[in-house]
Amino acid sequence: MLPVALHHVWKYTEVDRAFWDRHLEDWLPKRIFDAHTHVNEPRFRIEVPSEQKRRQYWVGEVSEPIGAADAARCSTTVFPGREFACLAFGHPSLDYDVDASNASLQEACVERGWYRLVVSRPDWSTERLAEQLAMPNTLGVKPYYALIPGQDPDSRDKYLEASIFEFLPREHLALLDRRGAAVVLHVPKAGRLAHPDNLAEIKQIRREYPGVVLIIAHFGRCYTVPHAQQAFGQLADDEGIYFDNSAVLNPDVHRLALRTFGSERILYGTDNPIFYMRGRRQWHGTTYVNRTSYPFYFNKDREPPEIEATYTLFMYEALLAIKQACDDLALTSDQIEALFHGNAERIIASVGEGKVS
Ligand SMILES: [Zn+2]
Repeated sequence: MLPVALHHVWKYTEVDRAFWDRHLEDWLPKRIFDAHTHVNEPRFRIEVPSEQKRRQYWVGEVSEPIGAADAARCSTTVFPGREFACLAFGHPSLDYDVDASNASLQEACVERGWYRLVVSRPDWSTERLAEQLAMPNTLGVKPYYALIPGQDPDSRDKYLEASIFEFLPREHLALLDRRGAAVVLHVPKAGRLAHPDNLAEIKQIRREYPGVVLIIAHFGRCYTVPHAQQAFGQLADDEGIYFDNSAVLNPDVHRLALRTFGSERILYGTDNPIFYMRGRRQWHGTTYVNRTSYPFYFNKDREPPEIEATYTLFMYEALLAIKQACDDLALTSDQIEALFHGNAERIIASVGEGKVS
């Protein structure tokens, strides 16, 4: 039976099943809503990234697009016996046919009872965005700085230091505000969430566009404790700001987030298919190292084979980190259910009721 193929170079093995049985089977709620997952039919990739671009950053080598049918199959494998739904969006990159990817995912979401975000280009007219938002199973947008026109083909980070308003224009925000639609915001800048411009712009969005359901992805890219400590307190008081906890493997970051924001403002997310990667993450101050068992270019400093043999999926390591944080704070089962599906379901209901212009 096991191993079975998952995605890209990854398999689901006896090690993963044993990890699930030991840590997750009795703890995870029966319903799982993954609020941050990338689904993009591979045939819509129009530009295969250069080797230089792939090797620039670990995600480049790990990120291969997954179509809806494969995404559904993988979620059944990694969440055995669970009712699964998700908020999906394509790869926010101009290497993809953004229109075709959006259209195909919209159909897949209707078919499967999932929801989607529109990958939105900042150069779109509001009419064009409005047409997309009016379609069924659509909660809002996924903007990203790599969608700003005039990219460098060898770098995904040309616009890393952009203002949020350069890739999420004010006209789009005004439309999203009127519709009560959601934004999953990947904050720009090397300084991450705590960068003063990010904090100021987020507060400005909340003030001027209060109807927008603002969800900050990956806890604002705070993957390490020092980054989380710099940022979280500054957004603690605004109960209208949500976060997804995808791609965060550090239990101390999850604990600080739960303590600062409470369990009602955090949405579970995987950031799959990237987090089907096997291995573990280690932290040193504001940096981290991804250990994995596949000979990627970035994976120069390997651990011994007997350690690599114990690796499970990064997404399972993330779930264990969340569990440890919930245990430390003695969260109730209602609070854990809010994290894994209730908060997302509340947002879906609120977007459905949003004023449609
Ligand atoms: Zn993502």
